Amino acid sequence: MGENTSTMSQELLSIVVPAYNEAKVLPEFHRRLSAVLDRVDVAAEILYVNDGSRDETADVLAVLQKQDARIGIVDLSRNYGKEIAMSAGLDYASGDAVVIIDADLQDPPELIPELVVQWRAGYDDVYARRISRDGESFLKRATAHLFYRLIRQVSDVDIPPDTGDFRLLSRRAVNALKQLREQHRFMKGLFNWVGFERKEIVYRRDPRAAGNSKWNYWRLWNFALEGITSHTTVPLRLASYLGILVAFSAFIYAAFVAYDKLVHGNPVAGYPSLMVVLLFLGGVQLMTLGVIGEYMGRMFDETKKRPLYFVKSYLSPAALKQADKLPDSLQT
Ligand code: UDP
Ligand code: MG
Repeated sequence: MGENTSTMSQELLSIVVPAYNEAKVLPEFHRRLSAVLDRVDVAAEILYVNDGSRDETADVLAVLQKQDARIGIVDLSRNYGKEIAMSAGLDYASGDAVVIIDADLQDPPELIPELVVQWRAGYDDVYARRISRDGESFLKRATAHLFYRLIRQVSDVDIPPDTGDFRLLSRRAVNALKQLREQHRFMKGLFNWVGFERKEIVYRRDPRAAGNSKWNYWRLWNFALEGITSHTTVPLRLASYLGILVAFSAFIYAAFVAYDKLVHGNPVAGYPSLMVVLLFLGGVQLMTLGVIGEYMGRMFDETKKRPLYFVKSYLSPAALKQADKLPDSLQT
């Protein structure tokens, strides 16, 4: 029994919080998070990833870090987007398990103890599935719903619907994720791609506590494109099918034209139909070229083999420095 508790106290839970222009909510977020962490029976570090915020996020974090020895700050060199901010957090996290949570309090920190319980039960990816999206417009809910269904249908990886990035990952799941260094990363897909034991937990999603969502429909559309093109080549196959379909229709039409000419002696007068066919084929060709271009562009980006992000500074949690828990690679 005594042995058991001593190994437990050596366990470390990392909380990764990507934050972009979240100065308004961060103090409240941290208050709620630390209240929860005080209750769980495992040591914790909180890694705030400042994703190139243009507001006072950096200052707010600096103040918080002075008050709480568990806080570490990864300051990215610019805004890279949430997917990369999360990846940076995973790289710097040294915990035996890592929780990823949004800074805007839409993911309730109060759920963390439950995630930890499931982790202790042996699960590697304990994800939280929302059963309501209070405070989000009907259109946002409907498009999100459609997107999750669509991506499930077309890709090989099984992405659970209505699941965000809020989850707990075991060390072995994090180590696996850290090996996936693609530029175009759709984390929700990657979490599932690495596999391991997965467990679902349900909760009600709250409206944002303050500030604005960084997502607009254009960003969401691009995000959806990213999700689809980085996980499946089905659109490429669709292009081939479309080609076959068009070619097949063309043959039928050719037969009809020949028949019309031979049997009815139809005098040549085909300007409108020629025009329609011409434009239609042109459109189909441009569209499929576009699809191929989407994949080409991604290959172009990947072949550059650039690092995912640059870090302006990393301030490790004071508590970790004392405990000498920092991984060698991060020791300065
Ligand atoms: N975020 C980020 N970089 C960005 C955009 C967002 O790190 O470029 C963070 C943001 O601070 C928040 C989380 O990602 O903690 C979710 O962002 P948001 O609430 O805007 O997305 P939504 O909840 O509307 O999907
Ligand atoms: Mg949000």
